[in-house]
Amino acid sequence: MSVETPRRTQRFPPSADGSGASRVLVVDDDEDVAKVYGKVLAGAGFDVVVRTDSTQAALEVVTQRFAAIVSDIAMPGMSGIDLLSVVRSYDADVPVILVTGNGTLETAMDAISLRSTEYLLKPVDPPALLRAVRKGIERVRPAPVVSVQPTHLLDSALEKMWLAFQPISSVRGKLYGYEALLRSDESALARPDLIIEAAKEADRLEELGRRVRAKASEAVPRVPDGVAIFVNLHVCELMDEELFDITTPLGRVASRIVLEVTERQKLDEVPDMEGRLARLRRMGFRIAIDDLGAGYSGLNSVVMLDPEIVKIDMALVRKVHESLMRQSVIQSLVDLARTTGIQVVAEGIETTEERDCIARLGCGLLQGYLLGRPARDIPG
Ligand code: C2E
Ligand code: MG
Ligand code: MG
Repeated sequence: MSVETPRRTQRFPPSADGSGASRVLVVDDDEDVAKVYGKVLAGAGFDVVVRTDSTQAALEVVTQRFAAIVSDIAMPGMSGIDLLSVVRSYDADVPVILVTGNGTLETAMDAISLRSTEYLLKPVDPPALLRAVRKGIERVRPAPVVSVQPTHLLDSALEKMWLAFQPISSVRGKLYGYEALLRSDESALARPDLIIEAAKEADRLEELGRRVRAKASEAVPRVPDGVAIFVNLHVCELMDEELFDITTPLGRVASRIVLEVTERQKLDEVPDMEGRLARLRRMGFRIAIDDLGAGYSGLNSVVMLDPEIVKIDMALVRKVHESLMRQSVIQSLVDLARTTGIQVVAEGIETTEERDCIARLGCGLLQGYLLGRPARDIPG
């Protein structure tokens, strides 16, 4: 059974010599736009790989060779700027042409500092796209022929993985817990979304989850009694019997652990979800819904999972004080939570204005750069 969204991809034949000399990667979450760019470039003789999922594309740019990359900027998950910064972390030269329907000074500055080859505004006409790609490729010296083996990269990322911890506190400043966040010293796969995507491609999500859970359990003795450790679960982990084993290092400290299940993944495809959650609760775990307000199911997930805690996605928190719409959405979530005894964490609080507004709306727990960044060590 698959619990992932089907990938909407289209692959043109790669270059016959395997050197990547004429391969161009096109990334745009709008499938129609991506296809049009793909057709234009294929018509000019390039081998084109079209991707609508930017995280998947990011993984490919670190494991495969491309002569040029054409990417949209505003995309869910990883933006074109994020993608460019991943590319530049290991390849200073490959031409990257950014395309956007909404040029801003901020993204233009980022594009320049990360040495984007061109910054084109939509709609892009085919000759301009071709010109930009050809010019970019001509300017670059030929790349070395070695390419990274995806398996080696993932092995290395897993070997060098560690967990960052970010505090979650009450509005009065009392420490409630720490969220464990995946990191790796393997520079090409340093971000959690990339490690997770790489593990997914390699069918090793179960192994990754087991490593994360074992590492997270090691943090428990380092935090004061009563302070919880929040652990992110990939939806696949709910199908791993090891999670339900009371004798594992995490199972033994279950009463100190909050398991975060994200709203971004399709939870309704897990067979007997209620039964599985009931087993986890009997072991002593608490359940949180992560990224509420960002996912597929909306309030359905609250009804279905009956969580102890919900975490409001930072997209709803960002500049909440300037948006009545956001305030009223958060207010209804807080009201719903209050009547059902659920605690609410607001994620991604960066400013005092956001904090004060969130506190006024009655949200009890806060997380974000304003209160503390994810850090390698737990303070104290
Ligand atoms: P998440 O669980 O919603 O984690 C919160 C993300 O927001 C973290 O990103 C954190 O670094 C970031 N963040 C916290 N405060 C702020 C803020 O004030 N402003 C901004 N802009 N960002 C803030 P990170 O560490 O990159 O993790 C991204 C996502 O990757 C996580 O989102 C989670 O879904 C996933 N993830 C992270 N670690 C793990 C893990 O161990 N296992 C699994 N399955 N997923 C993980
Ligand atoms: Mg989380
Ligand atoms: Mg979240």
